[in-house]
Amino acid sequence: MTDTPSGQATDASRHADILIIGGGLSGAMLAAQLLRLPGKRQVLVIEPRAELGRGEAYSAVELGHTLNGNAARMSVDPDNADDLTQWLTEYIAAGGWPESDQQHVPVSELFPPRGLFGVYVQQRLAEAQAVGARYGSTVEHVRAEVVDVQTDIDSVRLTLNDGQRLQGAYAVLATGMFPAARTPQTESSGLNAAALDPWDVTAMRQLDPQSTVLIIGSGLTMVDAVVSLEQAGHRGPIEVFSRHGLLPHVRRQPPVWVDFLAEDHSVRTPRQLMRELRRHCRDAIAQGIDWQAPLDTVRAHIGRLWSQATDVQRRQFVRHVRPWWESHHHRSPPLSAELVARLHGEGRLRIQAASFKGLEPSLSGVSIRIRRRGEAQTCVVSGAALINSSGIEYDWRRVARPLPQQLLARGLVRPGPLALGIAAADDGAVLSADGQAASRLFAMGPPLRGMWWESTAVTDVASQAKFLAARLAG
Ligand SMILES: Cc1cc2nc3c(=O)[nH]c(=O)nc-3n(C[C@H](O)[C@H](O)[C@H](O)COP(=O)(O)OP(=O)(O)OC[C@H]3O[C@@H](n4cnc5c(N)ncnc54)[C@H](O)[C@@H]3O)c2cc1C
Repeated sequence: MTDTPSGQATDASRHADILIIGGGLSGAMLAAQLLRLPGKRQVLVIEPRAELGRGEAYSAVELGHTLNGNAARMSVDPDNADDLTQWLTEYIAAGGWPESDQQHVPVSELFPPRGLFGVYVQQRLAEAQAVGARYGSTVEHVRAEVVDVQTDIDSVRLTLNDGQRLQGAYAVLATGMFPAARTPQTESSGLNAAALDPWDVTAMRQLDPQSTVLIIGSGLTMVDAVVSLEQAGHRGPIEVFSRHGLLPHVRRQPPVWVDFLAEDHSVRTPRQLMRELRRHCRDAIAQGIDWQAPLDTVRAHIGRLWSQATDVQRRQFVRHVRPWWESHHHRSPPLSAELVARLHGEGRLRIQAASFKGLEPSLSGVSIRIRRRGEAQTCVVSGAALINSSGIEYDWRRVARPLPQQLLARGLVRPGPLALGIAAADDGAVLSADGQAASRLFAMGPPLRGMWWESTAVTDVASQAKFLAARLAG
């Protein structure tokens, strides 16, 4: 036994079969899949949050912060697309989520609050624990942050921020996404200290309801921030600044369209993809069918296309297609989109194509320097408050957290293609600085963004969890 810095006595090295670093959706679903497989195994999930299965996304407390897809699209069971719909049907029948009847749609078309989705994930994990108990398997939540990892031929060792040490046969990086606001650049610019959390309705209630609020970024986090402001009673102007000035489209429920990429493997480059996609969208519109129908068929193929592409093609995609992809593909839930459209129509919400250049001194409220698209000069805009919705930092070299920094410094991981997350083999084994696939250290979910482009959404994470569990158990 050794003493941790807090004076608490712990084993010098606690042992488990599998150590899962991060207990958001990825970590919880991996644990659930491992528990359901025959064989006795001990799993530790290391997660600083109080509850497993929530992460940032599903810790939401406001009913207005909903999933961006309807229930039929958000099952965590890769073998049963109706799993969430079935769970919700029972939950609502038992008196839960009474507000759901305001959406006037069948359960499969409901957009559940993300906090409720967290309850669903936790229930599925609890059920898996009961199954695992029959094999003698266990899962335990260790409430701490992993600050260092070391590997050797037959084990992985973790150091936690409270001084504990854990040892396992395998470890999995399920650390999710790091907010862009947490990079050293934004930390030092003071942006974090000046900005309100997009989901903090309580803090927004302190604002003068008629004051001007500035928002940086125009993606789905901005949509959530507008929902938060509305909930807090804010009725003043909202000025949104983003590089391209594009708003997310609203998610509709389009009919099924022919899976044209499954039939045509000649499409390989971003240019070919966009040409084919536009052609199908035009055909759909000509037939009176929603353009979202052909677009949604692309999702299943994007990982293959991205992993086959060269770095030059990937760069072309990021530079020319990404803004369009983000606003058309990562669509807004209808109720939130309605609110944004209404405020936009009333002239209360304005969106401008402009890049953020830094904070400016301000005697009251906040002032930011921006450069509008197409203009050479910068200018200063002011408001009572600022919300940073500028998204995710995928480049681990820029993430100011101990674990990514240590893993890079030890050469245990290396940046993925285009520095998006980290590099890994097809089975999730991370690649070291010299390109060797690790035998003990794996990754899943958002850290693999550079390997698959889309590696973040519920369905991506759920299928990776199933695949990786089979790999680790095997
Ligand atoms: C606000 C928001 C809304 C979203 N909405 C949707 C949606 O509607 N539909 C959809 O498909 N996807 C959505 N997403 C995408 C979402 O990221 C994924 O669905 C999912 O949360 C990914 O799960 P994860 O566990 O990989 O990551 P996360 O949920 O980010 O969880 C990672 C966990 O790892 C922990 N962690 C990090 N570093 C360490 C460390 N060193 N030691 C220990 N623990 C660590 C963190 O505390 C965190 O809890 C949303 C994301 C966000 C942020």
